[in-house]
Amino acid sequence: MKIEDAAQLTQSYFCLDCGVCTGSCPVSRVLPSFSPRLIVEKALLGLGEELLRDRDLWSCLTCSRCFERCPSSINFPEFMRLLREEALQRGTTPMLSHHGMLQTIMELQTQGIKENKTQWASEAGQIADRGDTFFFVGCMPYFQVIFADIGVDSLSVSSSIIKILNAGGITPVVSNDEHCCGHDMLWNGNVDVFKKLAAHNLEVIRASGARRVVFNCPEGYYTFKHHYQEFFGDLGFEVVHFYELVSQMLAEERLQLRENGAASITFHDPCRLGRMAKIYDAPREILSKLPGCHFVEMERNRENAVCCGTSGWANCGTGSKRIQAERLQEAAATGARTLVTACPKCQIHLNCALGNLDMDLEIKDLTILLAEAVG
Ligand code: SF4
Ligand code: SF4
Ligand code: SF4
Repeated sequence: MKIEDAAQLTQSYFCLDCGVCTGSCPVSRVLPSFSPRLIVEKALLGLGEELLRDRDLWSCLTCSRCFERCPSSINFPEFMRLLREEALQRGTTPMLSHHGMLQTIMELQTQGIKENKTQWASEAGQIADRGDTFFFVGCMPYFQVIFADIGVDSLSVSSSIIKILNAGGITPVVSNDEHCCGHDMLWNGNVDVFKKLAAHNLEVIRASGARRVVFNCPEGYYTFKHHYQEFFGDLGFEVVHFYELVSQMLAEERLQLRENGAASITFHDPCRLGRMAKIYDAPREILSKLPGCHFVEMERNRENAVCCGTSGWANCGTGSKRIQAERLQEAAATGARTLVTACPKCQIHLNCALGNLDMDLEIKDLTILLAEAVG
């Protein structure tokens, strides 16, 4: 897409040059040369060609903090996404974290390889091949292998979801044929691979007969809810976040929670779940109902929460590490000893940073806390 069209689509022509975006940006705080205001200005001054070659294009976390506050409602993350698409077509690529291993796995999934990644699910509880409710597991089986060495047990979250759904009387469909949702490919500018992954997932879900698809990964949820519909129209099924479903099950008393020891906890809002999907209350409602749980907010919460420091497996550098360390210090400053996350990637990135810090803090996924209370 031409830069002028991207500027038009994202309302960038209405920029007031106020600098609120740069003042809100976590990257600008740690890398002062990075400025969303200047990026918009350059695009409007016809310096887009320069922008497409600039590394800054890939430094943005697409966290939406600037969009949330921009007085002209300029969708800067979407502007970045569209520019990345154009840059990639011209041969400019990001510095990929983990040497591009995650992106390679995503691309390989479009090559018709046979995957065998659901044995854990049948060990976790009751699952089905066809049914009303499809549980979209996402990249957790891959994360389990790649990030076990930093102490992250990704599949324990997925297994807990099956246990909790079963306890609420739901037998979910879990499919070996499901692919990555394509979120990272889309935000890395690779729309072709995104579309292949998405088209395949839609086919698999529709063949299962599901009327609703449940996600715990905020990226998968947001991608289906927003981008799948943008690219493919009506999906023919409902897109539901696991925490919304749990809140409903708790309200209807379909789930019983018991005390599992007292804990002082704080909560990190993921960008895709919070600012982008506007789900702030459901995780807090669950936390408020966990017996023995003392919940305390971090200073920057909800709309003001700060990203976990890296996104789309691109550009994890010293700036990311500073953002993560500051976020962990903010969590510790609440007095809580447990930082609860609600996104598989927040859990991975923050754990990765915690491993290099001497802090009395544990990171735990909300689903694990919930599963412990369900028993
Ligand atoms: S906050 Fe919005 S209007 Fe202000 S400089 Fe940034 S993009 Fe422009
Ligand atoms: S999306 Fe986030 S990281 Fe990117 S410019 Fe806006 S505030 Fe900064
Ligand atoms: S924070 Fe750690 S796990 Fe996350 S991308 Fe960077 S190096 Fe990888």
